[in-house]
Amino acid sequence: MTRTALVTGGSRGIGAAISVALKEAGYTVAANYAGNDEAAAKFSAETGIKTYKWSVADYDACKAGIAQVEADLGPVDVLVNNAGITRDAPFHKMTPQQWHDVIDTNLTGVFNMTHPVWPGMRERKFGRVIIISSINGQKGQFAQVNYAASKAGDLGIVKSLAQEGARAGITANAICPGYIGTDMVMAVPEKVRESIIAQIPAGRLGTPEEIARCVVFLAADDAGFINGSTISANGAQFFV
Ligand code: NDP
Repeated sequence: MTRTALVTGGSRGIGAAISVALKEAGYTVAANYAGNDEAAAKFSAETGIKTYKWSVADYDACKAGIAQVEADLGPVDVLVNNAGITRDAPFHKMTPQQWHDVIDTNLTGVFNMTHPVWPGMRERKFGRVIIISSINGQKGQFAQVNYAASKAGDLGIVKSLAQEGARAGITANAICPGYIGTDMVMAVPEKVRESIIAQIPAGRLGTPEEIARCVVFLAADDAGFINGSTISANGAQFFV
């Protein structure tokens, strides 16, 4: 039986690696994205993975987009909530717009995507919901009150969803990457990036493929007893 996986933000960065890894593991994969048509077209041409454009911040668009994916590829068995943005600013300078943009995408986006697939997962008695949270949701970060709040919220979502889904064969788990070498991190000024790498015991950034590996593990049919968990993949960047 071929299972269908839907990856949000699945055509670039960590999401692209997740889409490819799931395809290689035998899933039929749909990759959602927000607006970068060029990257999505290139990704689709290179991988043969179908891409779908809508914003996870828009509930109605998510419902319609998921319905289209399911009509094309079959019911979504595995949902990877990966789409995420940053709008960094020290708190005293953070605008309400910066707050809402990040919460709407990173936190409400998870609700918007998971809510429409949940009834089908319950009916079919199988589902895997995986959220890409962040080390900064676990420990907080200077100039990321909005981002850290959204990513900490993701951890509350999986712990609660896990309890609701457990008897219906649905698991919900989070992955907290440390710093991974994608556009998001390469956009950070080089000096800041160097100081970040100096704090990572592994002495390097992680790769998108190292996060994708965790997703494939959690998505598996025989991973059903791992529920409500958080996997940290951060090069031994411990924190208290
Ligand atoms: P990138 O900026 O490289 O890619 C982000 C992806 O999310 C893009 O595909 C983008 O679409 C998509 N996206 C953004 N907003 C929306 C939206 N509203 N609706 C649908 N898709 C959207 O990010 P990364 O790959 O670095 O990050 C992926 C996830 O991992 C994020 O949730 C991030 O917070 C998290 N993370 C990343 C870390 C890192 O070090 N890179 C560390 C910890 C967590 P488009 O291509 O159209 O722009």
